[in-house]
Amino acid sequence: MQKNLLNVLFPNFCNGCDALLLKNESVICTKCLHQLPFTQHHQIESTEIDKKFYGLLPYESAASLLYFNKKGITQNLIHNLKYKNRQEVGTFLGNLYCNENEKNTILDKIDYIIPVPLHQKRLQERGYNQVLTFCKAIEENTKIETLEKVLIKTKNLKSVTDKTKENRLAQNKDVFSIQHPEKIEGKHLLLIDDVFTTGATIEACAREILKIKDTKISILTIAYSQS
Ligand SMILES: [Zn+2]
Repeated sequence: MQKNLLNVLFPNFCNGCDALLLKNESVICTKCLHQLPFTQHHQIESTEIDKKFYGLLPYESAASLLYFNKKGITQNLIHNLKYKNRQEVGTFLGNLYCNENEKNTILDKIDYIIPVPLHQKRLQERGYNQVLTFCKAIEENTKIETLEKVLIKTKNLKSVTDKTKENRLAQNKDVFSIQHPEKIEGKHLLLIDDVFTTGATIEACAREILKIKDTKISILTIAYSQS
């Protein structure tokens, strides 16, 4: 079947603004592409993440690709990726990250990529971990392997959105654990999550990884929420 006809039968919509995509567009429209709110974290000496984690956590580098603004393009992209099975959004953003950061040397120092895991039950409900296609796109570009079975989530927490930060940190204790620690001993791991909000999830994951001998971590999230 011709591509044009396929487009008529199954039109593609922009994952950023829901506009109908043109023939030469995929995943997001040209207008959204030009409006993506990049953080430029890799060019900044002290990022918002650095300020949040200062004195709390030892890490090599921390960055988010995009700012997450309510009702903005990033929120739509993440929503489609997380809840609408639009996993191509993760691939698109992973490729974008590698292109945008071509000149930075952070990825050169990474041994493995570690996605923030979902609990087994949540994984079964959703059918996929929403950060995985993002991780795999970076793997494709850099040949840095993604380890999916090293960091696991052992407790399935209820939504904690209305709890205080202290509560969230306490709740996150013992939620994650490491399998096959020998695999990451002495390695520099890039921990990847979808949205950085309070940092509690990243911190809990990082603390588990850092218990393993001679590990180093860097942090990357698709989006940074200023709320
Ligand atoms: Zn759009």
